[in-house]
Amino acid sequence: MSQHPQPAFRLEMLDSNLALLTIDQPGSRANTLGQAVLGELEAMAAQLQARRDLRGLIFRSGKPGMFIAGADLRELGSAPHDPGMARKLVKRGHDLIAVIESLPYPTVAAIEGACMGGGLELALGFDYRVASTHPKTEIGLPETKIGLIPGWGGTQRLTRLLGPSLAAEMICAGEAAKADRARQIGLVFDAVPSERLLDEAVRLLREAQRSDEWKSLRKRKQQPVGLSEEQQSFTFAVARAQVMAKTRGQYPAPLAALEAITKGCNLPLEEGLKIEAEQFAKLVGSPISRNLIAVFFLTQRLQKDPGVADAGVEPKTVQQVGVLGAGTMGSGIAMAHIRRGIPAVILDKVPAALEKGVAGISKGLLGRVTSGRMTPDEAAAALARLGTSTTFSALADRDVVIEAITENEEAKVNTYRLLQKVLRPDAILASNTSAISITRMAQAVERPENFAGMHFFNPVERMPLVEVIRGDKTSDETAVTLVALARRIGKTPIVVRDCPGFLVNRILFPYLNESLVLLQEGGEPRAIDKAATAFGMPMGPITLHDLVGLNTSLHAGNVINSAFADRAAPTRILDELVAAGRLGPDSGAGFYSYAKGSRGVDDPVLEPILAKCRTGKRQIDNEEITDRLFLPMLTEASRVLSEGIVREPGEVDMGLLLGIGFPPFRGGILRWADSLGLSKVLEKLKRYEHLGVRFQPTEQMRKLAAEGKGFYRE
Ligand code: NAD
Repeated sequence: MSQHPQPAFRLEMLDSNLALLTIDQPGSRANTLGQAVLGELEAMAAQLQARRDLRGLIFRSGKPGMFIAGADLRELGSAPHDPGMARKLVKRGHDLIAVIESLPYPTVAAIEGACMGGGLELALGFDYRVASTHPKTEIGLPETKIGLIPGWGGTQRLTRLLGPSLAAEMICAGEAAKADRARQIGLVFDAVPSERLLDEAVRLLREAQRSDEWKSLRKRKQQPVGLSEEQQSFTFAVARAQVMAKTRGQYPAPLAALEAITKGCNLPLEEGLKIEAEQFAKLVGSPISRNLIAVFFLTQRLQKDPGVADAGVEPKTVQQVGVLGAGTMGSGIAMAHIRRGIPAVILDKVPAALEKGVAGISKGLLGRVTSGRMTPDEAAAALARLGTSTTFSALADRDVVIEAITENEEAKVNTYRLLQKVLRPDAILASNTSAISITRMAQAVERPENFAGMHFFNPVERMPLVEVIRGDKTSDETAVTLVALARRIGKTPIVVRDCPGFLVNRILFPYLNESLVLLQEGGEPRAIDKAATAFGMPMGPITLHDLVGLNTSLHAGNVINSAFADRAAPTRILDELVAAGRLGPDSGAGFYSYAKGSRGVDDPVLEPILAKCRTGKRQIDNEEITDRLFLPMLTEASRVLSEGIVREPGEVDMGLLLGIGFPPFRGGILRWADSLGLSKVLEKLKRYEHLGVRFQPTEQMRKLAAEGKGFYRE
C-alpha cells in the first residue's frame, strides 16, 4: 500500500467563522515553498476561496522560531537558465497570491521566526501582518544576495506598502528587519510577544470585520504608487548610485530589482508584476545566481562539517584557553575568545607588549559598545574573562594554548620545549604561524598528536576564516577540537593538510607573484590593480603587496618560491623596494605613496626603481593581465586539490572567498574555471604555456577537460 505523504498545511476553526491555517512542513526544520508545498497551498487557497461560511483567516507557522524561509533554494539553484520556465514559476506564485488577496473576508499573517523571500511575498498577499518579538523573527527579501530578485510580487507589493525608497533600499541590500523595526517602517501592523501573537491576530480580524479598512488596504496594493516624474527619477538615481557604489555594477540582481521597482511603481499591480517577471526570468539559472546559491550552500555545509573524515570523533571540552604573544594577532585572538564567553589568559614575555595588547583589547571592546554591537555590561563581562601573565605557569590549567609569538621557527620551537613542561598532558597546542611547517615543528614537542596550526587572518576581528592545519601526526581529536573552538568564536574553520603557504597563501602567492612578473615585463601598477578589481577582487595585487607589507610579502614569497621552485618566477622588485625603505603604508610608501595618511597615490619615485628590474616595456592588455593573474592561481588550486591538502573543491573556493575576498559572484577560483569550461581554460593556458609550469594545466585539469567534466561538475 502506498503511503500518502503528510500534508504541510492544517486548517482548523478557531470559532464558528474564523479559520486558522498552519504551515508545518513535515520532516524539515524549515518551511520552504518548493513545488510540492506550493501545490498543496494552491489547493488550500481554492478551498478557502469557496468557503462562504468564513469571516476571517489567520495564517501562521507551526514551527517555533520559523515562519517560511523562502523558496526551495535546491530547486532554484539547479534550475536551468530558461526564461520560459522561470516565467511559469513566477506566474504560479503571482496567481496563488492573487487568490489569497481576493478571499472574500479579511486575512492576517501571524509571523514568528524567519519570514524571508517567498515567505514575505506570501505574507504581503494578506491584508494584515503581525509579528512576534521572538529573537528569531526576521522579515525581508534577501533574493538579491543569491543573484535573483523577488519574483512573487515582492518588488511591487513592498513598494506600494513602504514607498519606493525604503522598498528599494531593503530589496537591493537584501537585509531583513527584526520585528520592532518591521513595525516602525509599517511592514507589520504590530509586534507583540510570542504568547500574544495569535490573540493579536484574532483581535485584528475582529476589528477588521467591523470596518471596511481591509478592503481599502487591498485596493492600495493594486494601485500605482503615484510618484511625480521628478520624484521617480530622483528616488531611483539615488538608489542606483548606492547600488553602483556597493557592487561596482558586478552584481546584476540589485539593478534588476531597481528596474522592476522603477518601471512598475507607477503602474497598476498587474502590469508591475509583468515587469517583475521579466526581470526575474533573466536572472534565474544565470551563472552569477548559480554561483551565489552554491556559495550559500557551501557556507551552510561548512558550518556543520566536523573537519575530519570520521564523523564519530568527538571534540574535547574546551573551557579556557591561553594565548601566547600579545601582539597584533595574539590580542585579536584573545579578544575573539573572551567576547564569545571563553576565558583566556594572554601572555607575553615583554611587559610593555602585554600592556599594549590589553589596551588594544579594551579599545576593541569599547568600539563595539560605541557602535551598538555590544552593551557596556557585555563588554565588562568579556574583559573580566581576560587574564594576563608573563610566565608560563599561568597556562598550566588551559585546555588549548594558541601560540602567536614572533614568526621565528627557533624561537617558537624553544618556547614549545619550555611550555610543555607546564602544560597539562592532554592540552592542545596550536600555532598561528603563517608559514612555518607544522609537521617540522611537531618534532620538537612530546605529544605531536596534540599539536596543530590554527591560522587566523589579520585583522582577527573582521576576518572570518581560520585554517586548522594538520601536521602528519596531528590527531583527529585535536583537529575536531580546534574546528569546534573556531566555530564557537564565530569563525569558519577549514581543515588543511600542512604544506608551504597552507591553503590560502599557497594559492594567493602565485597571483601576487605574477603581478610582479607583469611589472617586470612593463606592466603599469594601476593597470594591474584595475584589471583585478574589474574581475571582482576587493583590491588589486599591487595594493595588496603594500598592505601586507613589502617585507612580509618578500619573505613569504621567498618561502613559497623555494618550496615550489618548478613554478617559481622570482623577480627583484620587492628586494629593491625594501632596500629603498619602501615597506608599505607604515613606512609612508610602498608601490604607492601613503604620505600624510593618503590611501595610496601614484609616486614618481617608483618608476626609476621599477626600471632597474624591468626586462621589457610592452603594453599589456587587460585580458592578458587578468589571465596572467588568475590562471596561475587556478593551476595551484588544482594542485592543492589533487594533493589532498583539503578534501573537496568547495573548501578551496570557500578559503579564497573568506581569506582573500575572492568575488562571491564568481563562486571561487575553481567554480570560475567550471563556469568558463575546462576546455576553454586549457585553451587560454596554451597561450601562456611558454612562461613555465605555472601556466601548464595539471593532470587533474587535463583529465577533467578530456572527460567533459569540471571540478564540481560530474
Ligand atoms: P607581533 O610582532 O605583533 O607580536 C608578537 C608578540 O610575541 C610580541 O608582543 C612579542 O613580545 C611576543 N613574543 C615574542 N617571543 C615571545 C616568547 N618567547 N614568549 C612570549 N611572547 C613572545 O606579531 P604578530 O603579527 O601578532 O604575529 C604573531 C604570529 O602570527 C606570527 O607567527 C605571524 O606569522 C602570525 N600571523 C601574523 C599575521 C599578521 O598579519 N600579522 C597573520 C597571520 C598569522
